Amino acid sequence: MEGGNEKFKTHMAPGSSNEKKTDDGQASKENFVHLCNPHLEKMKEDILYHFALGTGTHDFPTLFGDVKHGMGIPSISIMLHELIKLLYHAKCSDITIIRIGTSGGIGLEPGSVVITRQSVDATFKPQLEQVVLGKTVIRSTNLDEQLAKELMQCSAEIGQFNTVIGNTMCTLDFYEGQGRLDGAICLYDEEEKLQYLKNAYESGVRNIEMESSVFAAMCNLSGVKAAVVCVTLLNRLEGDQITSSHDVLVEYQQRPQKLVGYFIKKSLGKV
Ligand code: URA
Repeated sequence: MEGGNEKFKTHMAPGSSNEKKTDDGQASKENFVHLCNPHLEKMKEDILYHFALGTGTHDFPTLFGDVKHGMGIPSISIMLHELIKLLYHAKCSDITIIRIGTSGGIGLEPGSVVITRQSVDATFKPQLEQVVLGKTVIRSTNLDEQLAKELMQCSAEIGQFNTVIGNTMCTLDFYEGQGRLDGAICLYDEEEKLQYLKNAYESGVRNIEMESSVFAAMCNLSGVKAAVVCVTLLNRLEGDQITSSHDVLVEYQQRPQKLVGYFIKKSLGKV
């Protein structure tokens, strides 16, 4: 072990080994990735939700290659720059944009839908810090209050799933940034994690995702009415891994679509 902290020595993921056989059959240490997280060792299986892979169900060494995903603030920001320009060039007016998606819930039963009151950063402030030309600029992440209330009313009319209005914490990372214990790196313990999530809950946060802050900030600056509606896939006070079955997750993911679909129909006078 390197350094003096026994608690945070290097561990390998469940089922993996950092030993490699050389040509002459000798096992040698190689340049494998090190996981600085003692919690992983205790897990029988590790589910990599975004890749739809699990160490118990997939042969990682055979299957895993280069994977690129479009997630988080950078991806949605690029898309929004071009969408907002498209709407401008098309001379669109009275635009409402609603982000729908998935999130981790805090203190809510999985499958609950959260309509965002304010998107807050990882310190619970309703702002986005962005570096522009080397300077940090702070942008407001407030969302349209009236629109949130109208969406809430739609959910009551549908009456199919629990829906709340609450703050949404937008983070730069799915693992350490959201206080998970199951990332490749984790240098805090479960108690510290839970304390952080409880502090978030007390400040009004009901779910965590990775896009809402830049979405709210860009819509604000462009004069576009905006809302964020995300389903919660798990209760983060009870765990970190998304373990519900594929069918359950598919049904959960349809909830924001159902709600916003109903809202659109109602706005068009079709219900
Ligand atoms: N998306 C997130 O950002 N976090 C979760 O826990 C689930 C979905």
